[in-house]
Amino acid sequence: MSFDLKEEIKKKAEELHIDLIGFAEAQNAEDFWPFYEKRIQKDYFADVGGVGEVARRLRVFDVMAKAKTVIAVALCYNHPIALLDPGHPSRSGIISAHVFRQDYHQVMQQKMKALIAHMSELTDERFVFQSYCDTGVLDDRIWAWRAGLGFFGKNNFIIHPSLGSYLFLGHIVTDLPIMRYDRPMNNLCGSCRACIDKCESGALCDAYELNAKRCISNLTQKKNLREEEEALLGRHVYGCDVCQQVCPFNARAKTSVHACFKPKADDVYVSCDEIIAMDETSFREKYENTALYWRGYTIIKRNAKIVKHNIYSEEERQ
Ligand code: SF4
Ligand code: SF4
Repeated sequence: MSFDLKEEIKKKAEELHIDLIGFAEAQNAEDFWPFYEKRIQKDYFADVGGVGEVARRLRVFDVMAKAKTVIAVALCYNHPIALLDPGHPSRSGIISAHVFRQDYHQVMQQKMKALIAHMSELTDERFVFQSYCDTGVLDDRIWAWRAGLGFFGKNNFIIHPSLGSYLFLGHIVTDLPIMRYDRPMNNLCGSCRACIDKCESGALCDAYELNAKRCISNLTQKKNLREEEEALLGRHVYGCDVCQQVCPFNARAKTSVHACFKPKADDVYVSCDEIIAMDETSFREKYENTALYWRGYTIIKRNAKIVKHNIYSEEERQ
């Protein structure tokens, strides 16, 4: 039987417990421009430096002029705690399930590094590569979709039919050609609109239409909040998972094999008073190895104060 590079890379990915891997031909993603253009016209982008910066997200050849392949990978972090009703228990602030335990950027980069090292053993061809997880110019989701890892849900997340959307995404851009590229998956949402109907801030206005300026996930990271934005935070101290929590694909998704991403209930449902009382040292001790630490003590503490205020205001209204 002849040597099949793609199959050999996939075998190694499985050994490394990379849950999903797919291969897309490197091409600028101009087909996504009308979608981006609509968001620009509606002023739905937050914190981007103009049209040029948005357009760069689509141009793989700006990242690597002779790119041939983009290898997209995903790690599933679906643990049952992520599916708990966001209203439980009362009086707690909520931290998004994705930040807990080991920082996923580190875990993903280690796995991509090991995969690339193995690729160089598999082939005599010299190749160059660049690997990204959240940190690159290109949009991780576009490449995950193009490489067939899942479909684009109406909530704008990549959804795999049996693993759901709690996926950390990464991609490797390389000039190594791969035979037989994978194909994108068609949308499987059907008539469901749960994510749109349940979005607490109205940021998800319609299918695929996200106003990032109202998205709670973005607001919990923003430096200065207006009064109206503070109210939108509701109970969210950091991030927001609602449009994923209500998705039926996540309700029946397999549980993650990665124990390093498993949160405890009191990681997700936090006491605002406890965060407010923290000093920088205790904040570092608790959150240093999580994906929220980069956002810093001042902002997280500010959010905890806002959430405490929101909870009390809500109680007074009832
Ligand atoms: S993350 Fe939260 S606020 Fe943002 S679109 Fe999803 S449900 Fe709405
Ligand atoms: S909640 Fe429904 S509409 Fe939204 S992404 Fe999931 S399946 Fe699609």
